[in-house]
Amino acid sequence: MATLSELSAARRVVVKVGSALLVGPDGAAHSAWLADFAADVARLRGRGQQVLVVSSGAVALGRRRLGLGRRALSLPEKQAAAAAGQSALMRAWEEALGPLGLTCAQVLLTRDDTEVRRRWLNARATVETLLGLGVIPVVNENDTVVTEEIRVGDNDRLSARVAQLVGAEALVLLSDVDGLYTADPRRDPAAVHIPRVARLTPEIEAMAGGANAQAGVGTGGMATKLEAARIASQAGCATFITLGTRAGPLSAIEADALATVIEPATTPRAAYKAWIGGSLAPAGALTVDAGAAAAVRKGKSLLAAGVRTVAGRFDKGDCVRVLDPEGAEVARGLVRYESGHASRICGLKSDAIEAELGYTSGPLIHADDLALAAHAPAAG
Ligand code: GLU
Repeated sequence: MATLSELSAARRVVVKVGSALLVGPDGAAHSAWLADFAADVARLRGRGQQVLVVSSGAVALGRRRLGLGRRALSLPEKQAAAAAGQSALMRAWEEALGPLGLTCAQVLLTRDDTEVRRRWLNARATVETLLGLGVIPVVNENDTVVTEEIRVGDNDRLSARVAQLVGAEALVLLSDVDGLYTADPRRDPAAVHIPRVARLTPEIEAMAGGANAQAGVGTGGMATKLEAARIASQAGCATFITLGTRAGPLSAIEADALATVIEPATTPRAAYKAWIGGSLAPAGALTVDAGAAAAVRKGKSLLAAGVRTVAGRFDKGDCVRVLDPEGAEVARGLVRYESGHASRICGLKSDAIEAELGYTSGPLIHADDLALAAHAPAAG
């Protein structure tokens, strides 16, 4: 099966671990499961792959700490439980990963962090830095500050947003079923397992019918998993849905254990560039000199030194147009300075930016955040 090559070929892998895997019925962390999973993560790290974990379990662990039992909780109680449980959750991860020489870091996100561009860029920069340092980010929703209306709500979707944030090639959703079936296999003995989905059609989505309450502690069902897979696929990331309870669930995927793979519709890089070039309304424009226009066309970053004028009012992270001296659009990109500061550093060499502004964010637009205009002359 092709699943082997895809998981092992991914440079970045996001693994979503649900509460049902992490927390036992007694409300304590499943340390044996965590230790086994940590060994699986260490194996991926050992062959140079970067791993991010999206971990639930804060509310489930916090219930026990706060003596809330198993009764239904109000939203403030859930948030209080998450506040108390998140530190226990991180301790459990540290205890599992630490003995294998792996360092982890807590990353708490809200929906705004993945949707408001400025916050998205900040979150991405932090996570990139952690990955560059060889750290395993352990991500959860920042449950204590979100309200019902602004929650991502489930970690399946959050993990797809994280995969999109870091341009991961693989997202693994560890579940209580070993993939997608034509019907719910626990209710329908005739249900047939689907190993591979090339495209998420309405027929496929209909198969996910009815949320499966994961041992009573999780929030996601197959429908939210397919929704996560859709976000991931459009971001260029393959999604693996597989059983999390078996030993070494990541190794098992490579050993051809039952799983469903939902294929990516594009590559992470192409998805990102298409988003910048096509989905965002430009908030301003930078007119650049001929040298800078040529550099951008060759795929280089846009430096302040090559910018002549700044038009429009924009914030850091907004999309702006890059125009050549004749006014033709060369590219669009996410700018690293707000418009007032961009005007002040126009024409300045990179080492003079800090003296002018008191800080530097590097180039005005980084090459990674530039999408060349479709009609722009080819690089050369
Ligand atoms: N953020 C929640 C927690 O840590 C879990 C949400 C989910 O499981 O989807 O308990």
